[in-house]
Amino acid sequence: MDALQNQAMAQAQVRRRQAERQKVRAALLRIEEGEYGFCTDCGEEIAAERRAADPAIARCLDCTRG
Ligand SMILES: [Zn+2]
Repeated sequence: MDALQNQAMAQAQVRRRQAERQKVRAALLRIEEGEYGFCTDCGEEIAAERRAADPAIARCLDCTRG
């Protein structure tokens, strides 16, 4: 693997981490606002098993499928 490829992979990892942090931050904000557990798109309650799989999940299954 060459250095350029390594660099690209490292950058992708940083972006993933930042996206994850952003997602968690948004979930915390929704908890503060009492909106946690509801889809950010349609406002429907997000299924408990989806939230169990990903506590920071923002959208219901229907909206994710979009
Ligand atoms: Zn939805």
